[in-house]
Amino acid sequence: MNEQKPPSVGKGNPHKHDTPELDEARDVERPSRDEAEEAVRTLIRWAGDEPTREGLLETPSRVVRAYEEFYQGYDISPCEYLSKTFDETEGYDEMVLLKDIRLESHCEHHMVPFIGRAHVAYLPNRRVVGISKLARVVEAFGKRLQIQEKLTAQIANTIDEVLEPRGVAVVVEAVHHCMTTRGVHKHGVSLVTSRMLGAFREDPSTRREFLSMVNHNSGDLS
Ligand SMILES: [Zn+2]
Repeated sequence: MNEQKPPSVGKGNPHKHDTPELDEARDVERPSRDEAEEAVRTLIRWAGDEPTREGLLETPSRVVRAYEEFYQGYDISPCEYLSKTFDETEGYDEMVLLKDIRLESHCEHHMVPFIGRAHVAYLPNRRVVGISKLARVVEAFGKRLQIQEKLTAQIANTIDEVLEPRGVAVVVEAVHHCMTTRGVHKHGVSLVTSRMLGAFREDPSTRREFLSMVNHNSGDLS
């Protein structure tokens, strides 16, 4: 085979941040809106319905707009959210924990939602970040095709690399609708993933403190 290598491997977004591999925004050549809508018509026919009937006429354009919302994370650099920090903290060096961040994502195997929440903590190293920015990082990675394990690692790694704190802990719990509405049809099960870095990984008492602050009764994840 004499294949020509494309000039760009399509990984990263070098204009946005020094650590593009964390963002994984890909330079994908996107189809036109018309092509995307036509693909939806194909799937409607695949489902067994007729895209030209009245109730479905506007569906392809709605689906395409919904996709823009579901997957807007590809246009966002999560690192940028963390670039503005505050260092007037009066020496605050205890855990910062944002609990119960709503998470909406789509599994990359079925393109079906998984919905739950994330808990994100870090131990500041002189500087802190606006708390809403932690939620933004979760959202940016959530609005991509994901598996929960990778999503959890991406959130933790990004905070770790950009903020350089003394430790990062992320726990994600979510219900996967590809499991509840199809396949094994298992209801009431949620997947819990976690990633601990720095002090949270090395120091059991720090990790325990985090887990006890997070471990409240699990409510309705949907
Ligand atoms: Zn799935």
